[in-house]
Amino acid sequence: MDTLFPLPEQTRLVGIARAAAGSPVLEAKRRVDYLELPTRRYITKCDSERVPFQWTINPYRGCEFGCKYCYARYTHEFMELRDGLSFETRIFAKQWDPRAFAQELRRIPRNHWIAIGTATDPYQPAERRFGVTRRMLEALARERGRRLSITTKSDLMTRDADLLRTISASNVLHAALTITTLDEELARLIEPYATRPALRIKAVETLTKAGIRAGVVASPILPLLNDGESGLDELARAAAGAGALYFGGHVVFLKPCARQVFFPFLERHYPRLAGRYRERFARSSYLRGAYPETVERRIEAVRRRYGLGRRIPDYRPEAWEGEEQRELAFGEPGRADP
Ligand code: SF4
Repeated sequence: MDTLFPLPEQTRLVGIARAAAGSPVLEAKRRVDYLELPTRRYITKCDSERVPFQWTINPYRGCEFGCKYCYARYTHEFMELRDGLSFETRIFAKQWDPRAFAQELRRIPRNHWIAIGTATDPYQPAERRFGVTRRMLEALARERGRRLSITTKSDLMTRDADLLRTISASNVLHAALTITTLDEELARLIEPYATRPALRIKAVETLTKAGIRAGVVASPILPLLNDGESGLDELARAAAGAGALYFGGHVVFLKPCARQVFFPFLERHYPRLAGRYRERFARSSYLRGAYPETVERRIEAVRRRYGLGRRIPDYRPEAWEGEEQRELAFGEPGRADP
């Protein structure tokens, strides 16, 4: 098997960077290398106040969908892959160890929220080859009393509809499709390798018909690209028509790793907007003030129009009937969105 870096380089790398450098290339497509990453931890504690969950699971490192605004590119920097593009062309599948996963799970309190797919997409194309997400879900299907959510931009989630349904009968589970726009042309530009928006809406419908509680997250809202009232209205209407229970969206934030890709993208495709974005994000990765408030009002208006919730609704799984009331712990969908 080939390795990603020559051996002498590995001696200067530590931790995950070293593990990544030594990872064998399992398969190569024209654009993407797939590698396997020895994994010491599957479930990560999350202490950020910006998100409502306490634990995260990301079965893959890197994400082939290659969204131009992706904030998670920094996660490849831990592996000394700093060029921005490696994030979408060198995809690491976490080596599966069911015992280690079960052991980690045992240490997590049942009323804590575990979110799957916060930094990379659990249903990106690598999942068809490696099935790490599926194996994790199979392990979670043996659990009871957990709070779980899973988020994706892929219709591949429907492959696991039966399994998700089984999980949701004994645990509180919510599924979310991230859909930033129904405009196919815009989606192709900003999310070049993700599932087409119409198919994502269709996936919401398939999941809800299978009895899975699902919602749509329109994040990130990009100023002057997908923030128009009519676009949000159209999206919320389609989400409601597909059976979504909630609808959310947050304004984009652009950390340096995201700007490295997004600003050149704007210059190429939307030169008119490039200067304005550079100016507005010059001092902070976040936009504050009137703009996010306006967007929030727009989203609230379309939610009301189509009877969609702001918060992820709690429910009582069938298997809990007759048991003592358990504390439910869902809230508003967080900022993190693959
Ligand atoms: S799907 Fe999510 S994780 Fe993947 S590239 Fe797009 S924003 Fe990043």
